[in-house]
Amino acid sequence: MIKRIFSAVIILGLFIACSKSDDDDKVEEKIAPKEVSFDTNQNSTLMFQDDEALDVMTSEARIYSISQVIRVKPIDEKTIEVSNFAPFDIEDATILATIEGNAQVQLFKIKKIRAHATQTMKYPFVEGTSVFLDVENKKVDLSQYKTTGVATTKISFDFTGENETILKLKKLKALKWTIKYHNYDPNNDPNNNWMPTTAKDIRRFSGLMLNMGIVFVSDNFKQAFLNEQIIGNDGTTVLTLAEKEKAYNNILNHARFNCGKVDKVSGLGGGATLGYAEHILHDYISKDAGDITAHEIGHCIGFNHDSNMTYPKMINNVSVGISPVMSRINKEFFAGGLFIVNLQNYYKSSDFQ
Ligand SMILES: [Zn+2]
Repeated sequence: MIKRIFSAVIILGLFIACSKSDDDDKVEEKIAPKEVSFDTNQNSTLMFQDDEALDVMTSEARIYSISQVIRVKPIDEKTIEVSNFAPFDIEDATILATIEGNAQVQLFKIKKIRAHATQTMKYPFVEGTSVFLDVENKKVDLSQYKTTGVATTKISFDFTGENETILKLKKLKALKWTIKYHNYDPNNDPNNNWMPTTAKDIRRFSGLMLNMGIVFVSDNFKQAFLNEQIIGNDGTTVLTLAEKEKAYNNILNHARFNCGKVDKVSGLGGGATLGYAEHILHDYISKDAGDITAHEIGHCIGFNHDSNMTYPKMINNVSVGISPVMSRINKEFFAGGLFIVNLQNYYKSSDFQ
């Protein structure tokens, strides 16, 4: 460790000696985070493609948090898997790591990760430099982990960045949702309200959840919902502001959605179960489908059809409930270009043809 600091001082000295104008840049460059890309078939593979086995796509290993669509998962002490669960490319993301409760370090930078790309890599402190920067650009020495690596339970990850896409993704931090894709119809039974989930369904669903999530966390949705007259499960009781706040928080804090493809009806929801039909998975990206999407979320947090947390109620000739609120805010999001996923950034336009 002493030797390292000593050599850093020598390097600093050299730069001062040979160039006065951009010393700081050059010193920073020396300890800039490693930069990687997962943007080709050579440096990454793609999840949720048509030739992937359904039991892989619906496995527990593919569970992700909506607040961490760039998912970094320790495989062993020295290896991590980096995956993008969003259906669009993400550029210029910095991966942050917290090791054994110490300050976050900038572990590496992703110049570009393709939509639904995944790749394993060694920790940069195992293979490369031992000197990293924390989030305040102060140097951190991780040489103690070079040979041992880090126990998989002693490290956690986050991502950060400054572009518009990343700033939108960071707003989803308020959501506790974990997402697993699920096949509710393994035998293709024509007598139930499900159909076998396909890779294409999963790809589109991954965008639907992001777009629904960004509406729920928006101030506009929250205020409109808290101002709405909401009727409880008995069909008559008007929820108080505190009860509406509780319902709103229950949406944000819902821990799990097991997402699958619905048949015959437009949607199915309850507890962790969440399904949408073909027309919803097809339409959500270009037009408002809030009447169905919000209805099922109402079921997921425990409301029945007597409450307008599912079907709206006509009150003084106005349609009132969570669905009309969702539809109004969806329209604002379309008009303002505020959704995270759209037909321009979604990576397989044929999924919506
Ligand atoms: Zn219903």
